Amino acid sequence: MSKEMKESMNLSDGDRLLQKLIQFDTTTGVMPEKPAVDYLRELLEGEGIETEIFAKDPQRPNMMATLRSQNPKLPPLLMYGHIDVVSTAGQTWSKEPFGGEAADGFIWGRGALDMKGELAMFIMTIVQLKREKVCLPFDLKLLVLSDEEGTGEWGAAYLTAQHPQIFAGIRYALGEIGGFSLQLSGKKLYPVMVAEKQFAHLKITARGEGGHGSFAHRDTAMERLCSAAVKLSERSLPVRITPAARYMVEAIASALGGAQGIVLRLLLRPALTDRILKMAGDQLEIFKPILHNNINVTMIEGGTAINVIPAEVSCQCDLRLVPGCTMEEALADVRSVIGNTYEIEVIEYDKGSDDIDMTLMEELFAALKRKDCEAVPVPLVVTGVTDGRFLSGLGIQTYGFTPMDLPGELDFTALIHAADERIPVGSVDFGREVLTDFICSGYEKALKAAGGTKTKTR
Ligand SMILES: [Zn+2]
Repeated sequence: MSKEMKESMNLSDGDRLLQKLIQFDTTTGVMPEKPAVDYLRELLEGEGIETEIFAKDPQRPNMMATLRSQNPKLPPLLMYGHIDVVSTAGQTWSKEPFGGEAADGFIWGRGALDMKGELAMFIMTIVQLKREKVCLPFDLKLLVLSDEEGTGEWGAAYLTAQHPQIFAGIRYALGEIGGFSLQLSGKKLYPVMVAEKQFAHLKITARGEGGHGSFAHRDTAMERLCSAAVKLSERSLPVRITPAARYMVEAIASALGGAQGIVLRLLLRPALTDRILKMAGDQLEIFKPILHNNINVTMIEGGTAINVIPAEVSCQCDLRLVPGCTMEEALADVRSVIGNTYEIEVIEYDKGSDDIDMTLMEELFAALKRKDCEAVPVPLVVTGVTDGRFLSGLGIQTYGFTPMDLPGELDFTALIHAADERIPVGSVDFGREVLTDFICSGYEKALKAAGGTKTKTR
């Protein structure tokens, strides 16, 4: 018997569901999500779980499934994930990216980690709870979204704006980026995402005297704008330590202990932060973006003719704000680098939540530790954005919680969106077991312990 055949015989229902999901090419904006969503809808309805479709474009639907409680006493709990994936264009894969092949102990393919593997966990969790007729004191909801890897316009942005009623009563949600293991200094950390950076789009404009290109000119709009762009790329924005960053750094410092813990805690002293980051080089690189807002100039526009000095030149910038930072504070940071003589316009701003609601954290951590006694769960602030930002606008706190026990050499963050994305066989079941444990006991315990009040970082 070949190795592949042996492996395929050892696959669980969860692994097979993941393979099936990978085989639907749902490249965002290129291939429709509909066939994959139809497949999942049929699967859930076949189990007797009710579903509803919400679509701005019928080819890009979103599906809400509900496992209804006979006796709801607590707010519904939401699990959500996206079915679309990023493109594989230009990447060299050693396996067929939409094949879902099981080989060498992994299931290979685009979306295995981001996030069809995680969606399969959520689906298997709700299916198992239904099959076992578990009585929960709350409705368990599962939302499958389109267009997360795009703008969310057909997915979470559309749903939260046009169908907010489907989120009625929900305060907490489990989503992507978190709960996977990560080896650090001999410890097996399980970062759980509690906050993400905020996204903004700025336009910075410089003005000056216009004129004829044949004369010498000084202090032109072009010169001034270019000077601002160079400063923004050469310098970091000032250190900004918000409660979310403090929470993450302190938790990791406690987990590591010893000299490393001491160095990490020093990061939280603004006068030392940049010096320590510089001295540590790559080792502490992951902390830099959560201790600073950051900005990149991505587009420049100005000038209409080769012989005319333009009176106005502008650039557009991708600005990422640390969670808890206001736009006023971020603009002050930008001005501290480029000065006060530029006009700055905020073109787009996805404001995140001002504070983190940690009510479920302890019980999420406890469920991980019950499954893996080596687990050291820690809070995580992510530098990118997920659909969590749209839900936070409705007052819903997302925790990135899709538990995975990854081998030390497998780097989650390096493999997502990259070639040879893969997940260990059995990961869907690992996640399902931790999720089921949390849903059946942790959620109620956490809400009771909080006594109706939210546990916040400030
Ligand atoms: Zn994702």
